[in-house]
Amino acid sequence: MLDVCLLGSGGMMPLPYRWLTSLMTRFNGSSLLIDCGEGTQIAVKEKGWSFKPIDTICFTHYHGDHISGLPGLLLTMGNADRKEPLTLIGPKGLERVVNALRVIAPELPFPIIFKEIQGPEQTFEEKGYRIRAFRVHHNVLCYAYTIEIDRAGRFDVDRARNAGIPMQFWNRLQKGEQIEAEDGTLWRPEDVLGPARKGIKVTYCTDTRPTKEIAQQAAGSDLFICEGMYGEPEKAKKAVEYKHMTFTEAAALAKQAQPKEMWLTHYSPSLVRPEDYMEDVRRIFPRAYPGKDGKSVTLDFEEE
Ligand SMILES: [Zn+2]
Ligand SMILES: [Zn+2]
Repeated sequence: MLDVCLLGSGGMMPLPYRWLTSLMTRFNGSSLLIDCGEGTQIAVKEKGWSFKPIDTICFTHYHGDHISGLPGLLLTMGNADRKEPLTLIGPKGLERVVNALRVIAPELPFPIIFKEIQGPEQTFEEKGYRIRAFRVHHNVLCYAYTIEIDRAGRFDVDRARNAGIPMQFWNRLQKGEQIEAEDGTLWRPEDVLGPARKGIKVTYCTDTRPTKEIAQQAAGSDLFICEGMYGEPEKAKKAVEYKHMTFTEAAALAKQAQPKEMWLTHYSPSLVRPEDYMEDVRRIFPRAYPGKDGKSVTLDFEEE
């Protein structure tokens, strides 16, 4: 199961009671963060989650509202005496941008691994998460992410017995490990597992105009978190100019992608009550909700 928390729901600048847009997930003891604007640390604290298991941080792009919280977070992780490496994933320029911010956090007790996204789309495997970055359309180089948790096929007890595999190895095979017996016999997970089952998928997309890639990549998501900078229909022109989206544009993407649920986020500071504009959104895509700071869900594998 995957715990998901939208730490903040604001765009451009943090406000009292509205932190900047950032997503945190927890799976199998390893946490992942997407975006880290000013104040993200406080949002994590408010949620009551720990910094310690954060092993991966992904950045959509290098506007301040998505990365300026990083040096403080690194210092906090350093003060907690983290030793394990931290992986950072982001668009071209990752190491240069992070090292510039690190002038104020130069000495850390843990190594940083930089993974710069190459080309329009790239997939990373990190601690059980499959992370796919795909290019979107903002006024600087920007990517959205899908996070997927795979689920192996069902363990076939009869096949395992017939193959004479001792029970002590079953658990490891179920987890995808290959086993070599003392006599050299090799047992592979695919010998005893059925076809892969539906996993969990979350798509996070902010700071972009709508694109057909977003609808394609978000298809089949359990949760689609999408920017909605403006609720007011009269701000449609502004959304085009600043390379953002209106609520109804986000809803149109969700209608194409058909996720189980959509949450809006990255509200303009001028947008005080997002819920006032949800009627139009739900007419296009009924399973839409306004994101709120700390809004959370636990996504489970489907029952069969
Ligand atoms: Zn932004
Ligand atoms: Zn931006």
